[in-house]
Amino acid sequence: MKIGVLREQASNETRVALVPSMVSILKKANHEVLVEAAAGAKAMFPDEKYSEAGAEIVAESAALFEKCDLLLKVQPLADGEIDALREGQTFVGYMAPFTQQKSVKKIAAKKVTSFAMDFIPRISRAQSMDALSSQATVAGYYAVLMAANLLPKFFPLLMTAAGTIAPATVLVLGAGVAGLQAIATAKRLGAKVEAFDPRTAVKEQVMSLGAQFIEMEMPEDMETSGGYAKEASEEFIKKEHEAIGARLPKVDVVITTAQVFGKTAPLLITEEMVKQLRTGSVIIDLAAEQGGNCALTKAGKVLVKHGVTIDGTLNLPAKLPVHASQMYSKNVTNLLKHLYGTESGELDFEDEITKGACITHGGEIVNEFLKSRM
Ligand code: NAD
Repeated sequence: MKIGVLREQASNETRVALVPSMVSILKKANHEVLVEAAAGAKAMFPDEKYSEAGAEIVAESAALFEKCDLLLKVQPLADGEIDALREGQTFVGYMAPFTQQKSVKKIAAKKVTSFAMDFIPRISRAQSMDALSSQATVAGYYAVLMAANLLPKFFPLLMTAAGTIAPATVLVLGAGVAGLQAIATAKRLGAKVEAFDPRTAVKEQVMSLGAQFIEMEMPEDMETSGGYAKEASEEFIKKEHEAIGARLPKVDVVITTAQVFGKTAPLLITEEMVKQLRTGSVIIDLAAEQGGNCALTKAGKVLVKHGVTIDGTLNLPAKLPVHASQMYSKNVTNLLKHLYGTESGELDFEDEITKGACITHGGEIVNEFLKSRM
């Protein structure tokens, strides 16, 4: 196949879908790789590195749309890019299918086969392709660095000749992939860490990282059979507000990561609760794009309300583009190996990963989960 790597268009995107080391791997599997000029520049992968790895550098994206069988990106395709697609081409990248339904319909109408990196099934077999996990790892880590930067205090306990400095207390809400990485990073910086997640299985993972798990009476079983959180009932959220509210006057930083796949993020911190935090405290809301876990979060903005800094910066993985791109491109390469590594080299739509990640094929939207939500 001829595989094309598109340069990202979004102003806040610094990642690239394929790094040079993955070009070599695809070349070994007999694919040709074409890269749009400067596609990797913001991720510190200059064109020469791609050339050395055996890729052809193409000045304009038009040539990629014209020549390639398969196109790779990080961000969903923009309107102009969808217009440029040709029938029979394949696209692999994030697609945000729930919110970008118009784009998905246009891609289907173009008879393009598309695979969404944000729809890779969250099963053990697909872990090496799971971009949601790899990028959440980056976001969880970076969220703590942002908090440390904004907090007018130290994170660690310090015993100095000028007195003893108490460690900062960090509360992490939602202990999935991003939350667990945030806990580990805050611990490494010496903070005292507390965390809460409605999935009871998480308690052990939180404690194994040296953090304290906030206990709460659970009015319902919050875990799906697939190990994910269900959408919480009003009663559950009310109890959760009480449990979190009791901790807020004692914490310096809150990192919120709570999400429910395909839904608006649960509201975990109301304006009244923000007022319970000490002046100078910091909230980093990793769910800002999904509506935010804090009522005062503004997506893409950092603001101060009631003396508390509330940071709704979007696309945290783009802040560490070298490793975020490296991890994303490993996920993509593993997906391509999986999709086309079949005996016949043809896509196998009976396979759970192929079927689960495929959004459009043969002129139609084929993803059952997406269709059920449209
Ligand atoms: P996510 O990004 O969808 O959600 C983040 C966290 O928010 C989850 O831990 C969830 O339980 C939590 N949450 C939801 N409602 C909440 C509420 N009301 N209050 C507080 N927290 C709330 O999830 P994720 O991090 O992508 O994945 C969650 C878990 O799934 C992981 O910890 C892991 O166990 C599992 N997982 C498995 C695989 C795999 O096997 N391939 C891949 C990724 C994740």
